[in-house]
Amino acid sequence: MQNNIVIQAPAVAQKRTTREWQQADSAHFLHPFTDHHGLSSKGSRIITKAENIYLWDSEGHKLLDAMSGLWCVNVGYGQQALIDAATRQLKELPFYNAFFQTATPPSIEAAELISSVTPPGFEHVFFTGSGSEGNDTVVRMVRRYWDILGQPERQVIIGRVNGYHGSTMAGASLGGMSGMHAQGGLPIPNIVHIDQPYQFEHGRGMDRDAFGLKAASWLEDKILAVGPEKVAAFIGEPVQGAGGVIIPPKSYWPEIQRICDKYGILLVSDEVICGFGRTGNWFGCETMGSKPDLMTFAKGVTSGYIPLGGVAVGGRVAKALIEQGGEFQHGFTYSGHPVACAVAVANIKLIQQLKLVEHVRDDVGPYLAQQFASLRDHPLVGETETCGLMGAMLLVKDKSTGTTFPGEVDIGMVCRGHCFANGLIMRAVGDRMIIAPPLVMTRAQIDEMMALIRRCLDLTLADATKNGWI
Ligand SMILES: *Cc1c(COP(=O)(O)O)cnc(C)c1O
Repeated sequence: MQNNIVIQAPAVAQKRTTREWQQADSAHFLHPFTDHHGLSSKGSRIITKAENIYLWDSEGHKLLDAMSGLWCVNVGYGQQALIDAATRQLKELPFYNAFFQTATPPSIEAAELISSVTPPGFEHVFFTGSGSEGNDTVVRMVRRYWDILGQPERQVIIGRVNGYHGSTMAGASLGGMSGMHAQGGLPIPNIVHIDQPYQFEHGRGMDRDAFGLKAASWLEDKILAVGPEKVAAFIGEPVQGAGGVIIPPKSYWPEIQRICDKYGILLVSDEVICGFGRTGNWFGCETMGSKPDLMTFAKGVTSGYIPLGGVAVGGRVAKALIEQGGEFQHGFTYSGHPVACAVAVANIKLIQQLKLVEHVRDDVGPYLAQQFASLRDHPLVGETETCGLMGAMLLVKDKSTGTTFPGEVDIGMVCRGHCFANGLIMRAVGDRMIIAPPLVMTRAQIDEMMALIRRCLDLTLADATKNGWI
């Protein structure tokens, strides 16, 4: 029997019309976070190729991707080094596991390289297939840590309202998205939440740093309410991504750190978006001034070219797990997948070679901040903020009073629609329009993006005026 049949791959993907793709899509493909019924009546936009910071759809329209796919394509599309790394590894060893006292060169190299770019004290890496699995790993690891230390009553993990930590049972529980909690009996036990450090909602008119200290004090209130001896960890994104690019005041994270230290609880930084250069440092905790015990990563670790996630494990937890813990009863088939890890290695080396972290910190990050601030002269824009290459603007009904649009006017979706129709991918989270473009973006491309943003804001304003929303 011939057991290695050679089938010629088709030279081009099967050609169908957009309508045919849309019909097959709605007949068979259940999309994540999507109202299937609503989408079927409209039809998906079929994205067929990409290069650098641009996408093309099946109708040949070009789009500037100001969201890096889904916060992940940090090095931009079409990077040959990543394509070659995957191709080489697929030929040499497409898969082997790490369960039974085995490892593969790429998994070892990726762990070593990630340890070299993380802040001091992170010498170990646990791999998963996604950010959600990374945060599930965090829950199991944190609770295991306290077990090993003889404090099994420390079970409670504190997250934040409107935080996002993924969509598995534990990930969605750690997150504070009310819509997600409303489905499927979440959160799971022993996960509680405090309010987010969103000044527009919780501290308008306050001094910024005073508000940061106040928002951090909610953590101490919660620790005391739960009972400090029961609290295992606090988890947060340095900058909340999916929640709407909520950038905390400078005073917030150092104060969170102080409170965690005071009660001896573990600090977990979810770096799935902020990691790998997004904020102008390798990790968001470096920008925000905290020293976490664990860091979740995914997305930017491979620039989204292939799924990979994991947890960087700091000294305190690693020591307990390794020296006292025995077997940690946890892992995934794809923990340390050789192809994904080979792409991670190529990606991190490329970020280093292109000096993308410095590019964001010293060049395009400050330039974006300046350009975004200039949007405040637009009648619809209430506030803007950026951190590295993440940015948000709040659309308001009345700038002078900071009045937002009433609930029945989904101004964010109106604006997003104009963006989509005019060659720009910008995301709406409620009334906040957000961007997180590829880190390879140039100043000229920022100018190009800003012109598109202004045009779409004007179109949104015209709608608001015409419909009497304003
Ligand atoms: C995307 C995201 C996750 C979940 O990652 P998946 O790979 O989608 O499972 C977790 N945390 C943050 C901060 C994220 O943005």
